[in-house]
Amino acid sequence: MTDTKRFFTDCLLTWNRLHNSRSMPWKGEKNPYKIWLSEIILQQTRVEQGWPYYERFITNYPVVEKLAAAPEEEVFRLWQGLGYYARCKNMLAAAREIAGKHKGAFPNTYEGITSLKGVGAYTAAAIASFAFNLPHAVLDGNVYRVLARFFGIDTPTDTTAGKKLFTQLAQEVLAKDQPATYNQAIMDFGAVVCKPQQPLCTACPLASRCEAHQKGLTDLVPVKSKKLVIKKRFFHYLLLEQQDHVYIRKRTEKDIWQNLHEFILLETPAPANDTDLLQSPACRRLLGKHRYRIVGSTAEIKQQLTHQTIHARFIRLSVGAAFPAPDGFQPVATTQLKKYAFPKIIVDYLQR
Ligand code: SF4
Repeated sequence: MTDTKRFFTDCLLTWNRLHNSRSMPWKGEKNPYKIWLSEIILQQTRVEQGWPYYERFITNYPVVEKLAAAPEEEVFRLWQGLGYYARCKNMLAAAREIAGKHKGAFPNTYEGITSLKGVGAYTAAAIASFAFNLPHAVLDGNVYRVLARFFGIDTPTDTTAGKKLFTQLAQEVLAKDQPATYNQAIMDFGAVVCKPQQPLCTACPLASRCEAHQKGLTDLVPVKSKKLVIKKRFFHYLLLEQQDHVYIRKRTEKDIWQNLHEFILLETPAPANDTDLLQSPACRRLLGKHRYRIVGSTAEIKQQLTHQTIHARFIRLSVGAAFPAPDGFQPVATTQLKKYAFPKIIVDYLQR
């Protein structure tokens, strides 16, 4: 290791020992099940948001066998609001594999861990190092940022070349004799000192040799080659009310919110008012010649996802007892809706 790389590693370990007071419920945890659970919950999720979910999951499923035996609907309901529901589905599949094929014993090699559904390179390195003290460097957004700034690297992090370069560098500067401590240290350092905005350079122990700080490049690295394109989608949910029931279905398409429930959805390419919507061919096909009454409709409710903005409206329609069930939908008593897992935007609407 070069002198600069050794300085980097030693500084981070010293900072961690003397100044790192960042606390998280799973910090220092050695149980691979709990570490895995926390890492799956934290993928694409802020620590403050994931924290209560982690505690709820650990309380409900203290061991992997409990999670593996839980009904899918119950687990999805507990996950409700976290987004990225494929994570939840993969998590349950992995729990069932550990409880079944591995008889409850968590895989204890890097290869074994990566073979689990939903576990990528970052999560595998985190579990391998935190639970089994194996020398695998984690590489998440915080680590990319600290490495890019300190070593002054402007290779885009989202390219094959960038991923390879950062993976090699991260592995090189890892303190191989204490991988768990080092991995936690660099992630915490990125979260509290070398932050995305306004890093604390004047108080930073790495400042004297930090390329980005020395050259005034802290706002320019790390670099990404692709700009995130955010798509707008316009959802109109029809709550077809028949006496005290409403129609819902489970989303099965390869789209957002797979496996969650929803009301009848009409998606339009642009905003639409009630009149436009009720006269659209899709709505006329659904309602046919049956009589209905508009009970009420909401203004637009927005939900921001990583790649999409959802603009949703809810329209309540009352129909008579003779109205036939729409294809693929089931009538559910309104008092029983809380038993089903819905996307956050519907949960927010129902809570209002
Ligand atoms: S000096 Fe600033 S940019 Fe460099 S590592 Fe420290 S906090 Fe990050």
